[in-house]
Amino acid sequence: VGTPLYLGIDFGTSGARYALIDKQGTIYSEGKRAYAHVGNATDWARSWREALFNLLSDIPPVHRPSISAISIDGTSATTLIVDSKNGELLAGPFLYNESFPEALPVVESIAPANHTVCSGSSTLCKIVSWWSSSGGADSAVLMHQSDWLLWLLHGQYGVSDYNNTLKVGYDPEIDAYPSWLMSQPYSHILPSVRAPGAPIGTVKEDVRSQYGLSENCVVCAGTTDSIAAFLAARTTEPGRAVTSLGSTLAIKLVSKIRVDDARFGVYSHRLDDTWLVGGASNTGGAVLRQLFTDDQLVALSKDIDSSVPSPLDYYPLPKKGERFPVSDPNMMPRLQPRPESDAEYLHGILESIARIEANGYNLLKELGASAVEEVFTAGGGAQNEKWISIRGRVLGVPVRKAEQTEAAYGAALLALKGATKAG
Ligand code: ADP
Repeated sequence: VGTPLYLGIDFGTSGARYALIDKQGTIYSEGKRAYAHVGNATDWARSWREALFNLLSDIPPVHRPSISAISIDGTSATTLIVDSKNGELLAGPFLYNESFPEALPVVESIAPANHTVCSGSSTLCKIVSWWSSSGGADSAVLMHQSDWLLWLLHGQYGVSDYNNTLKVGYDPEIDAYPSWLMSQPYSHILPSVRAPGAPIGTVKEDVRSQYGLSENCVVCAGTTDSIAAFLAARTTEPGRAVTSLGSTLAIKLVSKIRVDDARFGVYSHRLDDTWLVGGASNTGGAVLRQLFTDDQLVALSKDIDSSVPSPLDYYPLPKKGERFPVSDPNMMPRLQPRPESDAEYLHGILESIARIEANGYNLLKELGASAVEEVFTAGGGAQNEKWISIRGRVLGVPVRKAEQTEAAYGAALLALKGATKAG
């Protein structure tokens, strides 16, 4: 057995990836698997299970005995109801974006106003909908996607983490489910909650022997995919942030203070002793893709002088409506006037998106969060050096490309943390 290694597996929306790292964070092996074609809900569970075990068999056999710990992240609010008598699925999987609006009035009547659970796709709406249509079951347990996948490895029922359980109503501030939730008839299905990365148990004997894992390999509590992607940047000091510029613009800021504001879709996840405050704007790369190919973006960006502010003032949106940092479902995209030069046009758009990013961090500060001091950036937009320099000028803080941005890498860091705890 060589250097101890740590395995992270990410279950994203389109496929699963793994990253195997050592204590220093050096990657030893990586891989991905797409999900098999699916028709109905139970097929999802089957294809996740297949992806998990296919990834384990993709790891070079020479490394497998060296794996000290494993952690997994999954999409937030992806929910399964499992029978703890035999491990069979009682209901679901209900996918992260599946909505149960009929459960919303019930949830709104028990939860505090504007609570994160007050959304048709929240985990709580999913279990309320299941409970009222099926009548429930004594032996049922709630599992999130990553809980279920981790359970396939460790075999213990009813264990989750405080990131995944946020959308069922867990309160990470008091480290407990609130009384309004515990008084519900289905409260017995709620899992116990650990810190992400906390060791749960060793890998089941049959899995261990089939894949050649060590007896001491420990399975650690997981997290959600967006938290795992944040963790990959390895920046957990208050004031540090990660902006993800993909199709949309999402910001995540480490803050000493927890802030939540449903008007702007702002909420906080716990991150050990600090908070990770997030907000997402509808602006971002999707607008660029409506106007330019990725090759054009590269070519046009060469002609931009990023040290000079663009006089053009747009509000780029792919369609009507904005949530953060301005809450206005009727806001119209503003992409006029269009100058003759495409490079000038692009400069104006990139600069306008940078202003929206800056306004996002300003809004979080106004709501009480720590002031941003440094931004790491991820997503397709992070490839653009000119944009990074425009953003640094507009934000007034250093902006740099994050070295690691894969959620699987973040999950591997959780495994590393767990192995250190397990000693
Ligand atoms: P997502 O996963 O959210 O769909 P990605 O992180 O893959 O998005 O990023 C894709 C986005 O990045 C596209 O919308 C595209 O317009 C944008 N993009 C790609 N290349 C560049 C570039 N050189 N400059 C700015 N934006 C870019």
